[in-house]
Amino acid sequence: MGEGMGEFELIARYFTRPVRRAALGVGDDCALLLPAAGMQLAVSSDMLVAGRHFFADVAPHRLGHKALAVNLSDLAACGARPLAFTLALALPRIDEPWLEGFARGLLALADAHGCELVGGDTTQGPLNICITVFGEVPAGQALLRSNARPGDDIYVSGNLGDARLALLALQGQLALPAERLERARQRLEQPAPRLALGQALRGIASSAVDISDGLLGDLGHILQASGVGARIDTRSTMGLIAESAYETCATCAGSPLDPELIQQCTLAGGDDYELAFTAAPALRAAVAAAAQASATPVTRIGLVQARPGLRLVDAQGQPVRQRYASFDHFASPASAPS
Ligand code: ADP
Ligand code: MG
Repeated sequence: MGEGMGEFELIARYFTRPVRRAALGVGDDCALLLPAAGMQLAVSSDMLVAGRHFFADVAPHRLGHKALAVNLSDLAACGARPLAFTLALALPRIDEPWLEGFARGLLALADAHGCELVGGDTTQGPLNICITVFGEVPAGQALLRSNARPGDDIYVSGNLGDARLALLALQGQLALPAERLERARQRLEQPAPRLALGQALRGIASSAVDISDGLLGDLGHILQASGVGARIDTRSTMGLIAESAYETCATCAGSPLDPELIQQCTLAGGDDYELAFTAAPALRAAVAAAAQASATPVTRIGLVQARPGLRLVDAQGQPVRQRYASFDHFASPASAPS
């Protein structure tokens, strides 16, 4: 590693903290966790690669936040409560200001959700961050992708599309006024995992998924796992982009945001880290109560149907012919959405 500081000093300085709930944290060959009686351990990993998932010059505290947030989002989708995480880090060099910022953003989010850093690995190499999170959920109560039933309502939390809007702006494909770019950029670089909502939906939602690759693609995972289809009302999804986009329309005199672009961002934008979930119509009041208890807005956007496939309808109930592709790391740019 770099001059002055060694690997173990680096781990000690930036990534070692007093253990709280874990039985053993950083410093031995393994960490030890003790899940409470009757709880299942929920485990998920996500890797962030420079140039692929983030711009290499992104503010390090934002990157630290995001690296953990995308993992916590998976726990949220399962209805799990966070316990601990490990951090595998490849760094091109030891850059202390960068490490300080990265650890600050990472550990602030970890503290906010009571999720302890209990171990990891540190090596030299192209910047790459892999986190594994551990959470707990009462046995048998995890929210899965596979239990959506025909007749269930389909919901999504929060806003969709702003992260994509920010990405397009940062790539120079779109002009956004500075303060609105900053707001959208927050959504891209510092997503808020919907943990409280996920836990509040245990016993209510019939299925759930977090939206990382775009609403339609991720909802498609629920439909496939559950062996069902769906109808989505695109008038309701249009409204999910944060109002900053609409304000942008009003203020970018002469060049309003194309509604087609808004649809593209909300339906297939990606990097939203909201929850999409289904619930029986008899549980509408329970869903509203879960949303309120977790202070998380939710919007009903469609209906699960027995007929396989995803059908988009417009405000008049007419089929939308345009197709929207969600993000797929290995798909060619021209490949058709499923
Ligand atoms: P080993 O050689 O047994 O794999 P290491 O020497 O890589 O262990 O790491 C020493 C200790 O530091 C271990 O407890 C490991 O979990 C922890 N550790 C290494 N890198 C990190 C990191 N980036 N964040 C947190 N803990 C880390
Ligand atoms: Mg070892």
